[in-house]
Amino acid sequence: MSGLPPPATGAEAQWVGQHLGGLFAGPVAPSPRFRGGQAAADAALDGFDVRGYASRRNEVWPPGARGASGLSPWIRHGLITLPRAWKHVEGGPARDVEKFRDELMWQEYARHLYARLGSGIGRPLRASPAPDRGSSLDQVIDRQMACIDLVAGELEDDGWMVNQTRMWLASHWAVRHGAAWERGELWMRRRLLDGSRAANAVGWQWTAGTATGKRYGFARGQVERRAPGICEGCDLRQACPIERWPADDVPVRLDPDPRLKADPDPGATAGPSSPEGHGEPEAVWITAESLGDDDPALAAHPGLPAVFVFDEGYLARLRPAPKRLVFIAECLSDLATRRPVEVHRGDPAQVLAGRPVAATYTPVPGWRTRAAAIGPIQIHPWPWLRRPATGSLASFSAWRGAAPGRGRARRRH
Ligand SMILES: Cc1cc2nc3c(=O)[nH]c(=O)nc-3n(C[C@H](O)[C@H](O)[C@H](O)COP(=O)(O)OP(=O)(O)OC[C@H]3O[C@@H](n4cnc5c(N)ncnc54)[C@H](O)[C@@H]3O)c2cc1C
Repeated sequence: MSGLPPPATGAEAQWVGQHLGGLFAGPVAPSPRFRGGQAAADAALDGFDVRGYASRRNEVWPPGARGASGLSPWIRHGLITLPRAWKHVEGGPARDVEKFRDELMWQEYARHLYARLGSGIGRPLRASPAPDRGSSLDQVIDRQMACIDLVAGELEDDGWMVNQTRMWLASHWAVRHGAAWERGELWMRRRLLDGSRAANAVGWQWTAGTATGKRYGFARGQVERRAPGICEGCDLRQACPIERWPADDVPVRLDPDPRLKADPDPGATAGPSSPEGHGEPEAVWITAESLGDDDPALAAHPGLPAVFVFDEGYLARLRPAPKRLVFIAECLSDLATRRPVEVHRGDPAQVLAGRPVAATYTPVPGWRTRAAAIGPIQIHPWPWLRRPATGSLASFSAWRGAAPGRGRARRRH
């Protein structure tokens, strides 16, 4: 593929349009709010002050009232590792630090679940979904409703939403309308800059009640409380379709996947705890899971080129919003200011066949399959916040209980 544009010129969107046709759906533009690359990630983390996080994290509107860090696109792509984010808030007010670290642990928990269950994360974990009420997508994403318009508009424009509005949308979809949560999960994941199979599936399963047996309801009261002023400007304020709580049903408890309780092979889930392999690599294979300078394989080989493959088969099936691909291209062009970066479009196994590469173990099924075909000669450990063990993942609080740096487990949200 022809070379990446220089960073911070805004030319990445054009580059994506020219080179990645057929692998995305929608008009190509960068997110006006989030820029890919280590420099942007470092600036965002430096600018994040945890003070006030606990009390303001759930605020939605106006944007100036929000306390959420907005770090997720860089965390998702490994430009800010969870251990680094954890350390960043050291010395802040105890309540804020605890709340922020709790959220980082949710991210870690989702990664553990996905690493252990693989595609099983896409099946109801512990309870049945709400009954399908036969709603169409237009009925669910009803842009006449000012709250839904706000949420869907932010997703469309920025490729991002705060946690609270993700829960609103997921609940509106899967609880009030009873539309299949799996479809909603895919719909949202395609559009989010931080879209991840792990955290997105956990968020949807938690909201839809399939992870806990208890559904999260969304009604007008939350909008009035968290986004004051939005209802006043709504055409439907006199006939609000979410005035009352959604109809409730009693989820049926399902037999959980036995791996939820115990991991028969925690070593395989967690990957190596120190670098493995031998020989001299000639390049470092990187993926969208880990594009930052702290990627362990990149850090171990500062003089080697990085090789990135836009996985044609995978992307042609997923067809993400192009903002995500622009974000990745921005990460790569930023990286290319510090070392040579080779970019390809194709099948990673074919592109890298026979090349002695180093890589970082990545706890997602797609990486494992591709790595088995490529056979990196050196594999570096994943930077876990807490290394996966054999214990139960059936509930966040039980899993969280023994985490480093705290004694008590708290409920989410
Ligand atoms: C339906 C639904 C879908 C979601 N989909 C995703 C997704 O695809 N990718 C994703 O990274 N997160 C997802 N989340 C979790 C969470 O909403 C986002 O991580 C968070 O809103 C990102 O904004 P922030 O960086 O300002 O978060 P902050 O509140 O500042 O939290 C700091 C970091 O902690 C992590 N985090 C916070 N909350 C959660 C959580 N509930 N679960 C997992 N990690 C969390 C993120 O890495 C986040 O950047 C989803 C939540 C729900 C309810």
